[in-house]
Amino acid sequence: MRYSIRMFPKFCTAFFVLAASVAMAQQGAWTVKPEWVRAHEEYLASDAMQGRGSATHDEEVAATYVASEFLGYGLKTTPGMSGYIQSAEIVSPVLDGHATLMAGGVTLSEGADFDLVTSSGKSVSGQLLRMTAHDAASAHLTAGAVVMIDGPIDANTVFRLQRPLSRAGASALLVPDTGELGHLFNMVGSKTETPIRLKDATSMYGRMTTLVLHTDAWSRLHELAVSSSVAVSVHEVPPVKPRMTYNAIGYLPGTDASAGTILLTAHLDHLGIGRPVNGDAIYNGANDDAAGTTAVLELAHALAAGPRLKRSVLFVCYGSEEAGELGSTYFGQHPPVPLKSLVANLEFEMIGSQDPKMPKGVLLLTGWERSNLGPTLKAHGALLGPDPYPEQRFFERSDNYALALQGVVAHTAAGWGTVPTYHQPNDDLAHLDLPFMTAAIQSLVEPVRWLANSDFKPEWVPGGQPQR
Ligand SMILES: [Zn+2]
Repeated sequence: MRYSIRMFPKFCTAFFVLAASVAMAQQGAWTVKPEWVRAHEEYLASDAMQGRGSATHDEEVAATYVASEFLGYGLKTTPGMSGYIQSAEIVSPVLDGHATLMAGGVTLSEGADFDLVTSSGKSVSGQLLRMTAHDAASAHLTAGAVVMIDGPIDANTVFRLQRPLSRAGASALLVPDTGELGHLFNMVGSKTETPIRLKDATSMYGRMTTLVLHTDAWSRLHELAVSSSVAVSVHEVPPVKPRMTYNAIGYLPGTDASAGTILLTAHLDHLGIGRPVNGDAIYNGANDDAAGTTAVLELAHALAAGPRLKRSVLFVCYGSEEAGELGSTYFGQHPPVPLKSLVANLEFEMIGSQDPKMPKGVLLLTGWERSNLGPTLKAHGALLGPDPYPEQRFFERSDNYALALQGVVAHTAAGWGTVPTYHQPNDDLAHLDLPFMTAAIQSLVEPVRWLANSDFKPEWVPGGQPQR
């Protein structure tokens, strides 16, 4: 073809339009760099952080790290907050070891007649009920009932019964010593566990006062009539100084204040220092939940660097999840933005390795069938799918639940719920699948950006919202 000077401007225009659109696409596409993911994990899951125990100084340091990263990414403090950290007072009862149980003329003493395995730190009383462990799991009770389990029971069952019984209103659980329970109690130094709780909480969420009765004491109690009143009295040592838990909160204001806010969350804390396994006593929690915290950080990084979003996004890393979702419960009770304005909550838990039951690269979303959030995000490219372990009730076992109880459409995205390192000291950096984790975070950037720019308002399916 003969060269024509008139061709040039046209070609030139087309070229610049093309070049500009490539540049825009590059600007729009965000790459989560593996070294950023690794850097958060190297810090949060390091031995120096001592396992980020719930409501400890280590948790406060982790919250400070997250807050400082939020600041660096350009997130704002939430309206009404003067900084990036919300702190909540925690009660951490200390007992003097002289509990007694009184019922129908029988008086039993801690140590001689029973071991007080778990206590709320408060004395409790109620009517005696006897039932099998099987019936106790689904019992309807009178408020304050003291439930005595008939027949042998293993330690796992005792632990599993605490949650349904406390929900059903029981005040104490009495179980016979099977040898195994006594042995386990010795292993923890014969020290009563007194779960921490929020200062204003009326009960230990999901936990309850539990006594292991020695054989003679068991027989004496067994002779009492059902419905006898039982009182378990404990003596609390006055606290030395208040303890706090910490939520790190960053805010990305949207362009349309009436469009609502997306809440992206994880938890900062893990189990701290605990029983050594193979000589390792630091429960690093690299997967649970430094991995989720890393996801929140890198989603904040990505979204803050991009064009302004229509909806606001609130990024929260909670404290004290491992102690009964205390940070998220407090957040739900003292939300910095009205709960009604929260369009959806995605919690990230344990995204550091992939479940072999899930398709390659896909995260499980707890409570998938309860709302239209998961399926809609999936339709917009999110690598999310239904949780293959409904019997594990993961939906109820993370921070999303505290918000879901308040009506917010809230789910948890996880890599592998039943990973072998779960709550072990080897949940550490060496056991993370960093490429999977990086890809998982990357896969969520555009679907979350879409959600933050859309008018889509997720809803519970009928009966999907959990009831207290
Ligand atoms: Zn967790």
